[in-house]
Amino acid sequence: MSTATSRDDWDLIACPVCGGGEFRHLFDKGGEPFVRCQRCTLTLINPRPPFAHIREHYDAAYSAGYTRKAEAKVIRARKRVARIGRDSGRWLDVGCSAGFVVKAATEAGFEAWGVDIEADGIAYGRDTLGLSRLACGVLEDQQYPAAHFDVISAYDVIEHVPDLNRFVAELERILAPGGVIDIGTPDIGHWRVPRQLAEWNELKPSEHLYYFNRKTLGRLLATHGLRIVRKRFALKPGLKVLVARA
Ligand SMILES: [Zn+2]
Repeated sequence: MSTATSRDDWDLIACPVCGGGEFRHLFDKGGEPFVRCQRCTLTLINPRPPFAHIREHYDAAYSAGYTRKAEAKVIRARKRVARIGRDSGRWLDVGCSAGFVVKAATEAGFEAWGVDIEADGIAYGRDTLGLSRLACGVLEDQQYPAAHFDVISAYDVIEHVPDLNRFVAELERILAPGGVIDIGTPDIGHWRVPRQLAEWNELKPSEHLYYFNRKTLGRLLATHGLRIVRKRFALKPGLKVLVARA
């Protein structure tokens, strides 16, 4: 377990949204410093533990959190797929866990793929859901062809990735002409986020590295030639946006 006294090997980063280097310290949680960029307001953990430490969070127990609720996850996945309003083409679910969205997209008529860093989730998808197009690893290592996917989904993923700009650039690179990206992430700008931010249940040391609002997410996407084309209403503090090329 990391503590405040062992931060020598932690990574101090520039703001991934605006490149700024001035941060206001908000509070520590789980021994990790939550700060706010003074230029663009992005809230993030900075400095943060090295990725090897962060990656330890994504283990069999993490995936089991999904698979033990399989029935509910399948229902939610079908709703997510139906919402896109398409029924053919190539779909990639990034951070697919056990592959529920991949399964739902396949049922809906897509040629569907998934990628996730956690091996047990992928094994569940292959063995229990019978999915063959699942890859274990990070998106940026998969070498998917350029302009390949008509729909890319990333639900509760973007707040976890170590190199945010490399990740979004890769999403843009593999997006087919006319394609859409469906993104969900906690929304720090939502009216139901506690006034005492430290009490928000979405604050997860080593796991949720960034906390977007519509403005900061839009700015990050714009850097990579993408834009938010639709923002869905969310009763809980989630930012649910459909993204396309600018
Ligand atoms: Zn910033």
